[in-house]
Amino acid sequence: MEQAPARPRSAILTVDDDPDVSRAVARDLRRRYGEQHRIVRAESAEAALDALREMKLRGDLVAVILADYRMPQLNGIEFLERAMDIYPGARRALLTAYADTGAAIDAINVVDLDYYLLKPWDPPEEKLYPVVDDLLAAWLSSDHRPVPETKVIGHRWSARSSEVREFLARNQVPYRWFGSDQPEGRQLLAAAAADDRGLPVVITPDGSTLIQPSDAELAGKVGLATTPAEKFYDLIVIGGGPAGLGAALYGASEGLRTVLVERTATGGQAGQSSRIENYLGFPEGVRGDQLTSRARRQADKFGAEVLTTREVTALQVGGSARTVRFADGSTIDGHTVILATGVSYRKLGAPGLAELTGRGIYYGSALTEATSCAGQHVFIVGGANSAGQAAVYLAKNGASVTLLVRGPSLEKSMSHYLIEQVEGMQAITVRTCTEVVAAHGTDHLEQLTLRDANTSETEDVDAQYLFVFIGAAPMTDWLDGVLARDDHGFVLTGPDLLVGGQLPPGWPLDRAPYHLETSVPGVFAAGDVRAESAKRVASAVGEGAMAVMLVHRYLEQL
Ligand SMILES: Cc1cc2nc3c(=O)[nH]c(=O)nc-3n(C[C@H](O)[C@H](O)[C@H](O)COP(=O)(O)OP(=O)(O)OC[C@H]3O[C@@H](n4cnc5c(N)ncnc54)[C@H](O)[C@@H]3O)c2cc1C
Repeated sequence: MEQAPARPRSAILTVDDDPDVSRAVARDLRRRYGEQHRIVRAESAEAALDALREMKLRGDLVAVILADYRMPQLNGIEFLERAMDIYPGARRALLTAYADTGAAIDAINVVDLDYYLLKPWDPPEEKLYPVVDDLLAAWLSSDHRPVPETKVIGHRWSARSSEVREFLARNQVPYRWFGSDQPEGRQLLAAAAADDRGLPVVITPDGSTLIQPSDAELAGKVGLATTPAEKFYDLIVIGGGPAGLGAALYGASEGLRTVLVERTATGGQAGQSSRIENYLGFPEGVRGDQLTSRARRQADKFGAEVLTTREVTALQVGGSARTVRFADGSTIDGHTVILATGVSYRKLGAPGLAELTGRGIYYGSALTEATSCAGQHVFIVGGANSAGQAAVYLAKNGASVTLLVRGPSLEKSMSHYLIEQVEGMQAITVRTCTEVVAAHGTDHLEQLTLRDANTSETEDVDAQYLFVFIGAAPMTDWLDGVLARDDHGFVLTGPDLLVGGQLPPGWPLDRAPYHLETSVPGVFAAGDVRAESAKRVASAVGEGAMAVMLVHRYLEQL
């Protein structure tokens, strides 16, 4: 086994029993990543495991493990399973021959494989590096990164501490978490001349200390744009989920001066998904944060301006200009607008829930909390795919999970493939016909009261973590009186606006609204916010792209 000299950098480990292949992979990795990372190579699974154990003892960091599938004694999947015990946070990829792709796909469930790569990987610029770039980005944004980045010192049960972590994670800002009751956390607080009365405290890489920062302050400090560069755009996209990112990317790539305005962090709901398995082109599935970071990079590459932490609170129509107003009262104008504001989580309305949100009760934040949940018993409420994904993800990360479902089974609400995964995992128990009717705790969640829907009997159970996934609603009240919405607040577009074949009231043009056009010409809706939309990542991205095509058609007639 050959090893680079010890340096205080995170490692990329590669193992292949064919010495030529092993050398070639290491050579390609070294060429691109050698400056930033230590490249460690091994020619057998056993040697690689020894190397990992040695690095663990030395306190080294391992970011990525690339393993060959066909190896004697231990195959790549068995090796990765053992490697996970030593470095659970390292991202994992399998190198396979075409004939072994079936095994690689199975491995996604066994070892939570991030990628599989087909041999040969030439040219590495196209086949190897984009994958390793993604793996490194995912590793950096998880809780296993090296320390010199943003540090967050907070309390485990503080709602704002948990929001700050979520905000940084969703914006792909590498950070390291320190509990204020841990020695390292206390030392950092003392060094920053802060104390635990003003948590969370954020220390940025340049050494600035932020005490209980708002999202906007954080965004500014960690280099996320929050202020528009122009006053006027061809296209203003509101919402940075898959539909908005798709629209911004296509708009900018087709030469439109495009700005995307996002309330919190790009990625939307999809960014919070632990694994999207049904998005075209990703047979092995893709984590929502990986898909988001790729989309964001792509939008940047084409010159789309992306603003975060800016909530849009009003849309005004004056002549051909469409004016978008932010929460602070400032405005920007554009020829066209694409509304891609998606939906937001519905809150569970039982007593005690609101007070304990962020203190053991979380809405859709399974990704950020996963590390704290390892070894714990967690409850998840919901019977749809998002709840199923969270259950599988948390169980794979070492939690034991009880899935609380109001209905009599999962069949109607969850995809078949997820039901199979849920049922195949010993760490998950499904309790049907069960509702959460109260939550109890002083400074954090301690107990839940559950009710059996058949017998109405209630039971108190000890609980520290509850994740809620009970559907979502569009938050479009700010559009009231501006454009037509259905009874649930979803935005009506195209043919849905015509009543008995008649154009919508107040519609000023001779033509009918285009397919994704709202009751205001030049304002389009894409993705989950649109009435009758499919509520899927693929359809949201597709509608974002299609809306841009209709924007061009509209602009041609201005
Ligand atoms: C946990 C989870 C798992 C999922 N898994 C899958 C899956 O495996 N496969 C699949 O196909 N689908 C999945 N979905 C559904 C999928 O994520 C959504 O259909 C998709 O994200 C919709 O995209 P969107 O862009 O329309 O809206 P969203 O993703 O909801 O994004 C809307 C964005 O707009 C922003 N916004 C809202 N209002 C404003 C405002 N006033 N000003 C500025 N910004 C605003 C929000 O902050 C948000 O970022 C999942 C959803 C969840 C929650």
